[in-house]
Amino acid sequence: MQVLVIGAGVIGLAVAHTAAQAGHEVTVAEMTGGIANGVSSRNSEVIHAGLYYPTESLRARHCVRGRRMLYAFCASHNVPHRKCGKLVVATNAAELAKVETIHAQAQINGVEGTEMIGGNAARAMEGELSCIGALWSPETGIIDSHSYMRALWGELEDRGGMIAFATPVERMSFKAPYWRVQFGGREPGTFDFNAVVNAAGLGAQALARRIESYPAEQVPRLVLGKGNYFGYAGKPVFSRLIYPTPVDGGLGVHVTLDMAGRMRFGPDVEWITEENYAVDPRRADGFYARIRGYWPGLPDNSLVPDYSGIRPKLRGPGEQADFLIAGPAEHGVPHLVNLFGIESPGLTASLSIAEDVVAKLA
Ligand SMILES: Cc1cc2nc3c(=O)[nH]c(=O)nc-3n(C[C@H](O)[C@H](O)[C@H](O)COP(=O)(O)OP(=O)(O)OC[C@H]3O[C@@H](n4cnc5c(N)ncnc54)[C@H](O)[C@@H]3O)c2cc1C
Repeated sequence: MQVLVIGAGVIGLAVAHTAAQAGHEVTVAEMTGGIANGVSSRNSEVIHAGLYYPTESLRARHCVRGRRMLYAFCASHNVPHRKCGKLVVATNAAELAKVETIHAQAQINGVEGTEMIGGNAARAMEGELSCIGALWSPETGIIDSHSYMRALWGELEDRGGMIAFATPVERMSFKAPYWRVQFGGREPGTFDFNAVVNAAGLGAQALARRIESYPAEQVPRLVLGKGNYFGYAGKPVFSRLIYPTPVDGGLGVHVTLDMAGRMRFGPDVEWITEENYAVDPRRADGFYARIRGYWPGLPDNSLVPDYSGIRPKLRGPGEQADFLIAGPAEHGVPHLVNLFGIESPGLTASLSIAEDVVAKLA
């Protein structure tokens, strides 16, 4: 089939790579001038193990499977990554009960190697840590996500696929046997494809509304969960990822590390109604309080506003979130898959989601 993938974020690139591998002729349309200019360049770059997500949820399934696929891809394509492991820490009895629940869920989800350890064992691993117990997850890691996305792009081109940049998809309609797709940008025009994948991230709902005869009730609402990061202006003190217990809408302000070993904190959860990426320095106050819960040694004036990202959520505060992968079986429109709500752990899950999407295209 001639397959059009809309969006060159990590999900669109993984789908394009997988579709090309399955023998399809693949074109990616991206409205900006490069790959990874959306949600995919504004995250924690963590390879999640799959600890938290509810049984049978798409996030649980695709995170665990996607993580295994991603480590294998990194190894075979020389993508820089480090399986550094992560500690989910408890600083009081109520948090310990929460961490134990996460451990039980991790076991149901089939996550390998997790174990509960005491405060002393945790401090033996990370000397600066203050906690009464922790969940140790050895399968969690970090990745240079841009190298990963470049590798997917390279694979796509090796199989004859291509990305058209500065090419927004404006609308489309299905006239059997083709999808007629109208492009804007520098060279506007209309082209036919056998199948279409909407991997437009924060733009997925807006695009779905411009698909002729697509049922309006099948377009979910979009809820924006902004996550702010603060950099640490000092020598890193942790060599593993350190997470507190999760909060509503996110995993809690945690220690993230990049491949160069630099330490930063975030993301928090700020519910917003319009896209904006400014990091308000005043939010640092809340960060100091939360981080000192597990790292009392955090010096004053050491946090500097860094970047932010926006989670394309389908649910608001207090509601359970999941991915929505809507193919013909769900919405009744042939050869079309819409991806909605691909928030965390979308990077980790990307190769597994891609396999599902390609299977739904037939
Ligand atoms: C704060 C934060 C932290 C996160 N941390 C992690 C983490 O540590 N680990 C993890 O696994 N996941 C994490 N995630 C989740 C992960 O980043 C996302 O799931 C993933 O990047 C989503 O990729 P995407 O391709 O769907 O979206 P995007 O990267 O946004 O790509 C969509 C693309 O579509 C393009 N587009 C939109 N509309 C159109 C149109 N009409 N025509 C053409 N192109 C269009 C956009 O320009 C964009 O490039 C995090 C997310 C956030 C927000």
